[in-house]
Amino acid sequence: MTKRIAILGSTGSIGKNALRVIDGLNSSLAARRSPPERNRYEVVALTAHSNVELLAQQARKYKPKFVCITNPDYFTPLKERLKTSDNRLQTTDDRRQNIKVLAGPESLIQIAELKEVDIVLSAIVGSAGLQAVLAAAKAGKRLAIANKEPLVIAGELLMKTVAENNAEILPIDSEHSAVFQALKAGDSSQVSRIILTTSGGPFRKLSAAELESVTLEQALAHPIWDMGPKITIDSATMMNKALEIIEAHWLFDVPTEKIEVLVHPESIIHSLVEFVDGSCIAQMSRPDMCLPIQYALTYPERLPGISKPLNLEEVGRLSFEKPNLKNFRALTLAYSIAKTAGTAPAVFNAANEQAVELFLQGKIRFVQILELVERCLDKHDVIQQPDMKQLLNADRWARKEVLLAN
Ligand code: NAD
Ligand code: MG
Repeated sequence: MTKRIAILGSTGSIGKNALRVIDGLNSSLAARRSPPERNRYEVVALTAHSNVELLAQQARKYKPKFVCITNPDYFTPLKERLKTSDNRLQTTDDRRQNIKVLAGPESLIQIAELKEVDIVLSAIVGSAGLQAVLAAAKAGKRLAIANKEPLVIAGELLMKTVAENNAEILPIDSEHSAVFQALKAGDSSQVSRIILTTSGGPFRKLSAAELESVTLEQALAHPIWDMGPKITIDSATMMNKALEIIEAHWLFDVPTEKIEVLVHPESIIHSLVEFVDGSCIAQMSRPDMCLPIQYALTYPERLPGISKPLNLEEVGRLSFEKPNLKNFRALTLAYSIAKTAGTAPAVFNAANEQAVELFLQGKIRFVQILELVERCLDKHDVIQQPDMKQLLNADRWARKEVLLAN
């Protein structure tokens, strides 16, 4: 059966890899099966924020029924690039096909709810993906989620919406995909610990004094993963792992006391689950996002795809160490934020998004990212059991607060 996919954020690092994964799956299926099964993974919708050039290129190749540009300023440029004389999409093989071009952030919700879509792959960065992710859950879709921020901001609401609407949520984040796979080895009530691994980022070995003067260029040079700028900076501050602790808490319904972080610089073991009998199940593969993306699409099946097998002889040695909680305070903060709950995680996330933006613009130093987040959290009056409006207000407030504080 064909699986119809909408990729939210198709021009980003995850989005581009998702398209490569889909190509790989379709060609391995085409090689194995009879023609009617050929297009088992069909791209029905693609969205991007501003990269019209790449979005138009992707639309020509994949011929989706819908494309959406969330920044409305780029609507006309996108239409121009897609238009032919009869206002139809010009595709690479010169067939013409109707394509609906949408613009604005609200159209993400429309895409997430489309009856033509079975799987919504959310690869948007940050809280901008929140409403669409919730809409996909409400519409009972399979949600293949790379976009961890919505789980941090509104984890309880999102998981409740998934359950109430018979939707499915499948993690793409490599650690969470690893945990999801390892959990198949036992009952979730028998889990004693979830151990999230981290490469430690580019600044693992620096002293607190050395961290004071790191540059943007150094922070963007991740030793293992090639990712979008925001998550790359989050990996350098370890905020990424902090967000992942909260993400795991909601995805797997495990208290944060049972979630630990382990530094594993080779990034071969993507995470581990320890059961009450002491058995520890790890998931291993090359550090390549294509595998967790593919598993979220093919689950419960496993299919041959583009990911290369692991060669442990080549890797040689796996090492582990404790994270440096003094230098990377985000980790400790994650546990108290999860405990406080209410609007605190939304503020934690939004303050970080805004501070990272300032750092990327060269307006603050690296160490100021966490200082601004902490200052913002100190000033916040937490609202318990917030509704969506209160969460969005908290997100807006935190961004303003960070801008004012700077
Ligand atoms: P990226 O910056 O490379 O791409 C982001 C995508 O989101 C782009 O397609 C962009 O057009 C879109 N986008 C940006 N701002 C938007 C807005 N305001 N509204 C709508 N769309 C917008 O990011 P990425 O590295 O692909 O990461 C995407 C998500 O996946 C993040 O939440 C990240 O934490 C998560 N993730 C990424 C990786 C990775 O390897 N890149 C690994 C694990 C998890
Ligand atoms: Mg991760």
